[in-house]
Amino acid sequence: MLAIRLMQDQGIAVEAVNFKTLFSCCQETAGRAAQDLGVRITVLGAEDDYLELVKSPRFGYGKGANPCVDCRIYMFQRAYRFMEQVGADFIVSGEVIGQRPMSQKRRDLETISHHSALDDLLLRPLSARLLPPTLPEREGWVDRERLFDFCGRSRKGLIALARKFHFNNIPSPSTGCALTEPQFARKVTDLIQLDPAAGMWDYDLLKLGRHFRLNGDTKVVVGRQKSENDQLEYLHDLPQASSTAVLTPLNFQGPLSLVVGPATPAALDFSGGLVLRYSKFTTDQQPSVMVRTRHQHFPIKPTITPRVSQARTLAASS
Ligand code: SF4
Repeated sequence: MLAIRLMQDQGIAVEAVNFKTLFSCCQETAGRAAQDLGVRITVLGAEDDYLELVKSPRFGYGKGANPCVDCRIYMFQRAYRFMEQVGADFIVSGEVIGQRPMSQKRRDLETISHHSALDDLLLRPLSARLLPPTLPEREGWVDRERLFDFCGRSRKGLIALARKFHFNNIPSPSTGCALTEPQFARKVTDLIQLDPAAGMWDYDLLKLGRHFRLNGDTKVVVGRQKSENDQLEYLHDLPQASSTAVLTPLNFQGPLSLVVGPATPAALDFSGGLVLRYSKFTTDQQPSVMVRTRHQHFPIKPTITPRVSQARTLAASS
């Protein structure tokens, strides 16, 4: 928001671009910000190739499973294409040197400019005075003297500037990206290690339910509430689904579980046991669980009720 406002202050017309990945949110916040600033905003979605950089980032991960440098290179490559489509002259971003440990160290900013091929067409107005002059500054399209030298993690100066511009909605510093969350990152790392060929469906599934791994081939996902049960069932019914069976309680109230991997008797027993584990039923009931695979339905009576600690829990509390 500040980067855009600084350009507007110099009479430069701006179009905003917001990136949407499988793991990030904030389109609403970005839309509101664009409205406040009076600029047109275009949301660019990450494509299938984005998953490849999540699985194997050239510049490594942050504290979670966040490949921030690669991700930002990807975003700026897309922005470069967009810049050419709309006939813009250069790109500005709100990056501040040293503000985020993974992608905004001075060296990272250089890496991102270079590998996105934008080089000195990428201007960071908030830290510009600490960086070499870019083409827009050298050509005089932008007055470098009216740019800033913010550096480090403190948001104090940025907030003061936002107040000076009378911004009503100052967003929180959260990235809004699930890849940075430790619980979610565990599930991503598990998937990368055990199923390197996993696709969009498998990564989408990480956002739902409790995940338990039975073995290297098989995991079970249990819904935490009705809406998740419905979403899990919807995902199971998609043609690209990797799940092989869906299990629902027959004679008691409880969650739905999904088997991802071979639907062996052991996997079904484990999955049914987890349905019991998260259900309420009286002890004189003999609980039955209905199994629905791609081609058949049949009931089972799970023989085990795994303790959560016995199953390898990937993110029980997320
Ligand atoms: S926090 Fe997420 S969306 Fe943001 S740069 Fe890092 S990986 Fe990309």
